[in-house]
Amino acid sequence: MPCSTGGAFCSYLMIKKLIKRWLARPSRSPAPGQRTEIPATEHGIDPSRVDRRALEVVDTLQRAGFEAYVVGGAVRDLLLGITPKDFDVATNATPEEVKRLFRRAFIIGRRFRIVHVVYGRGRDHEVIEVSTFRALLDAANAKRMSGNERSHKRQLEQVSHAVDASGRVLRDNVWGPQNEDAARRDFTINAMYYDPRSGVVVDYHGGFADAKAKQIRMIGDAALRYREDPVRVLRAVRFAAKLAALGFALAPATRRPLKACTSLLADVPPSRLFDEMMKLLQTGHAMASVQTLEQLGLSKGLFALLDHVVSRADHPMVTGVLQDTDRRVAAGKPVAPSYLLACVLWPDVLLARDALGAAGRRLAPLEALSAAADDVFQSRVGDVSGRGKLGADMREVWLMQPRLERRLPRSIDGLLAQPRFRAGFDFLRLRAQCGEVDMDCAAWWEAMSQATNAHERDLLMEQIRQQPAAGGARKPRRRRGGGGSKGGQASPAAE
Ligand code: ATP
Ligand code: MG
Repeated sequence: MPCSTGGAFCSYLMIKKLIKRWLARPSRSPAPGQRTEIPATEHGIDPSRVDRRALEVVDTLQRAGFEAYVVGGAVRDLLLGITPKDFDVATNATPEEVKRLFRRAFIIGRRFRIVHVVYGRGRDHEVIEVSTFRALLDAANAKRMSGNERSHKRQLEQVSHAVDASGRVLRDNVWGPQNEDAARRDFTINAMYYDPRSGVVVDYHGGFADAKAKQIRMIGDAALRYREDPVRVLRAVRFAAKLAALGFALAPATRRPLKACTSLLADVPPSRLFDEMMKLLQTGHAMASVQTLEQLGLSKGLFALLDHVVSRADHPMVTGVLQDTDRRVAAGKPVAPSYLLACVLWPDVLLARDALGAAGRRLAPLEALSAAADDVFQSRVGDVSGRGKLGADMREVWLMQPRLERRLPRSIDGLLAQPRFRAGFDFLRLRAQCGEVDMDCAAWWEAMSQATNAHERDLLMEQIRQQPAAGGARKPRRRRGGGGSKGGQASPAAE
């Protein structure tokens, strides 16, 4: 069209039009895929490996007339012959409709509203997470907000779909059909639905073929999907690490944008990053996670605490706890974030304690350790949920160390009775394995904690009464701060 009002104005109008068109462009979220049904004879999933409570949830929903499937990671793992660590269910029932069908069901989450159906109590309780099929995101129709979840908490409560300036999803509670729900999931191998009743696996994005080809592939445009939710960067690393032993690798187009997208993580609330980091480190593939981060060139810049873990991975105490965590998970034993972080940050605590001494602070040994523990926790562990209990548990393990090493006869019963004695003792044993504490001391505590009668206990008590060296100096010796044992890792008990 000819422009009569001058070149500059004309280009201004054109640029304005282009920007307007760009802002109003339809969402580039992945298009829904073609429904494929894979029969049991082809996928070979053994229905008896599905958790009976997940089966019950699916059954209850289906009998009430809703669609319901086991979904996501559980289907992926069943297909690969791995025992799923949890079972998620997806349905076309709304959270309120789900809640009404179960005696103990709770609607949780704001960003994503889902239902927790709870079975059993205490240690044996099991939660089946039930999510309602979500509609495809239409970024053009979403409420655009500056800031993040925290800065707009109130406003966000009123909307069901909102994104921030970069396209990151802040609210996502618009329900839709299953094919749209599938397109909303992250990787193709995580987007399959299994109906235990018919035995059919429903697949919209070639997840079954990718599982066979041992490929971790993002659904849709990977860079855009990382932008929508930057935590997917960490999830990509997690699945690459988890499935590395089975020969899986990230598809090139899924791997390529990872590095450029790490800066987006700066805007994600630390609690979410912390939870995702713990999944990297506490779901049985901690060592593989560290290696994968290094291989992908992501050992720095994801999350400060994770960067720190990776940078310390060669420290015997850190390697020790990561290996131990992997072993425990493989054996089905429980693991605690506080214990892992206490091990990871222990070298920092010792350095901080020695620095206090070197700076001329005249503190009693336990006071110095306590002050160092607080400093390290404060500076390394950010504002994460459950921070109070996490900090208290870590402190307890750290401050128990000098007492465990000294073995004062009058404090033995008190230590054994402490609820976190086991964690404190495991920590001591790990330190002994790293050459930081006398092995005999760890062996003594092992024997003491396993003693079954008074006679055995008396014999052990006698040992520490008679061996001042093993029992540690009865009077705490003052030590000047600064120098310690090798590598600045002086044992607190040396004091
Ligand atoms: P795991 O075995 O470690 O639990 P998972 O695949 O089940 O792995 P979850 O975090 O339990 O992972 O999530 C369940 C499912 O929800 C995923 O399989 C995926 O389909 C979907 N999902 C979870 N987080 C995201 C996300 N950030 N973006 C898109 N889809 C997601
Ligand atoms: Mg899961």
